[in-house]
Amino acid sequence: MPLHPADEDVTLCDASRRQFINQAGRGLLAVGVTGGLAAYAADEAQAAPGADAWPQQGPTDVKLPEIFANTEPKKGALPNPQPPEQRVGYAVVGLGHLTLEEILPAFADAKKARLVALVSGDADKMQKVARQYGVKPENCYSYQNYDKLKDNRDVEIIYIVLPNSMHEEYTIRGAKAGKHILCEKPMANSSKEAQRMIEACQKAGKKLMIAYRIQYEPMNRMVKDMARNQTYGKVKVIDAINCQNQGDPNQWRHKKALAGGGALPDIGLYCLNTARYILGEEPTEVYAQIHTTPNDPRFKEVEENVHFQLRFPSGAVANCATSYGAFNAKRYRVYAERGWFGMDPGFSYHGLQLERAHAPEPERHEVKEKPSITEKNQFALELDHMAECVRENKTPYTPGEEGLQDHRIMEAIYQSAKENKPVKISTAAAGKLDAFRGSAPSKDS
Ligand code: NAD
Repeated sequence: MPLHPADEDVTLCDASRRQFINQAGRGLLAVGVTGGLAAYAADEAQAAPGADAWPQQGPTDVKLPEIFANTEPKKGALPNPQPPEQRVGYAVVGLGHLTLEEILPAFADAKKARLVALVSGDADKMQKVARQYGVKPENCYSYQNYDKLKDNRDVEIIYIVLPNSMHEEYTIRGAKAGKHILCEKPMANSSKEAQRMIEACQKAGKKLMIAYRIQYEPMNRMVKDMARNQTYGKVKVIDAINCQNQGDPNQWRHKKALAGGGALPDIGLYCLNTARYILGEEPTEVYAQIHTTPNDPRFKEVEENVHFQLRFPSGAVANCATSYGAFNAKRYRVYAERGWFGMDPGFSYHGLQLERAHAPEPERHEVKEKPSITEKNQFALELDHMAECVRENKTPYTPGEEGLQDHRIMEAIYQSAKENKPVKISTAAAGKLDAFRGSAPSKDS
């Protein structure tokens, strides 16, 4: 007798099936289920090998049969995570907002990555966080003994989530300790620092990835495909905006030495990087203006508003705006010959929404659509991509070179605003598609 009608159809390999039934049997017995079900489970439990006889190697992927007709919205595949001991171990450096709000929780959604170690300057906070996430006390490091990660074989990747000016030092020390590096955006405070980070990782033979989460997120990837496949014809214009109204003027984001700049490197970078990603091209010219409210204590050292235009070799133009003084807006839209498509919000952590408009034949009435696509945790996708690159010896999709290119362009944006004239960007890569990107994220992510 099947436990459930669908259970009879479960497509499992024989060994996995026995394991599943064994587990089911133990679970049912444990909760004291009586009658036929329990008898069935007990029989199977006796017939199946115990947990100590389970294979410790080999595939663990499971498949389930379809429940719904193929007219229903498509569901994603089962997560099929890797067993914990096969995952790639991470140390996370810096226990601020992004780490505690997004990155550490994202390990629960990761399939190939696991949290092993923490690094912080605040021992009391680290002790609490370590207990929350089951990190062993001996795997907790300070900024001073960070280099001792060298001796921790369980850590293969260091994820740097510190103020921007600290990315260079912790990348270089991490690579010297023999670890691969995943570094938050912006990569650094300048292209010079970014270049040194790349060189240090190359010298140590370690991988370097910049955490451009948008490039791993499924809806943004779909927009990229629509642009590159010319679903609605050639792309003519991209319009992107990223704003947030900043609070405390004393936070590091308002100190030039720690942040490198204001709205541009922090949030305007999403407009810049996403336009480059959607088109796969590199801009050849920028034109920018900066406007900052006088006497606002938040903007003594860093800029408030930046408007910039990027010109691409295909003729496409991106109009971008970013502000540290305007209400939350994180959207972009791509205008092509026969339709437009984009995301609002597009740069947020959660609740992303894809929208598109076109006028299909034969009626040619304008149709506006908001396809509902299953959301995935962008941070988990990023953690898994880097883990996969380490395991399979691949170059990350967003390597250090991708971050360096953004720094070069941001420097041209500041120069253009200062000189109030367009600035040309010369790069040998201008004509190449995805000139600075590595191996594309795998289809199962
Ligand atoms: P945060 O201020 O919340 O955390 C920074 C951490 O660094 C804190 O734990 C702080 O104690 C520590 N720190 C060490 N030395 C410091 C110093 N001298 N001054 C200030 N803090 C110091 O910042 P956050 O929002 O977590 O940002 C960290 C990094 O992550 C930044 O590079 C930021 O650009 C990036 N970030 C990325 C995203 C994204 O979506 N990918 C989102 C937010 C932040």
